[in-house]
Amino acid sequence: MPAQSCLFLCLKDNFGVLVHDSETMATAAIDAPEAAPVEAALKRTGWQLTDILVTHHHHDHTGGIEALKSRHRCRVVAPAAEASGIPAVDETVREGDRVQVGSLEAHVIETPGHTAGHISYFLPADKLAFVGDTLFSIGCGRVIEGNPEMMWKSLLKLRALPDDTRIFCGHEYTMANISFAKTIEPANALLVAREQEANRLIAQNKPTIPTFMGEEKAANPFLRADVPEVAQSLGLAGKPTWQVFAEIRERKNRF
Ligand SMILES: [Zn+2]
Repeated sequence: MPAQSCLFLCLKDNFGVLVHDSETMATAAIDAPEAAPVEAALKRTGWQLTDILVTHHHHDHTGGIEALKSRHRCRVVAPAAEASGIPAVDETVREGDRVQVGSLEAHVIETPGHTAGHISYFLPADKLAFVGDTLFSIGCGRVIEGNPEMMWKSLLKLRALPDDTRIFCGHEYTMANISFAKTIEPANALLVAREQEANRLIAQNKPTIPTFMGEEKAANPFLRADVPEVAQSLGLAGKPTWQVFAEIRERKNRF
């Protein structure tokens, strides 16, 4: 049975998401920005929370864990490298580990850069990826604890996922990301198409995610640092691609 998902907003611009296995009735929250919207989503769907899969230690991804755990007795799975900074952890995971949510299987991909121990979860059977604050729709996370080379390598790991992988990220930043992306590739027709699509969704009060990896590869400047035209337009032709990535990230920081 395919995984079901339920996406909702938390805090100011965080996404919460539930993933449900209708075979076993197991349900995982990917991160827990705050408890109340997760509880509301559980109530709406009628699902019972069995697991919380954490991507990284930032409080806007973990603030709801303790309240949810004390109410639902759910298992908390977290990146081994950051477990000491995350409340109520039951299990720690690393690169290549498998996490079962009922009959659903998630693969752990280490994607450091935003934080030093950030992980993403990929469900190959359903082609779902939960990438936290590493990759955003038409953007990427700030490089806070790692360095640009590390972040670029993490993005390459995600970029290797199948084009029809649905990407769930941690924040609704799409419109601001598109405004910036147009300064890097103003003539990218697929980026302009994404802008129209995002405008349409926002006008309908809908989230702009999930997005597909194939669409991100075509329009997200942070995944396009190795496109020769991008490097050339930044005056960095022939430089290592992580340096091109670093320049794009630096420009976004100042944007
Ligand atoms: Zn974060």
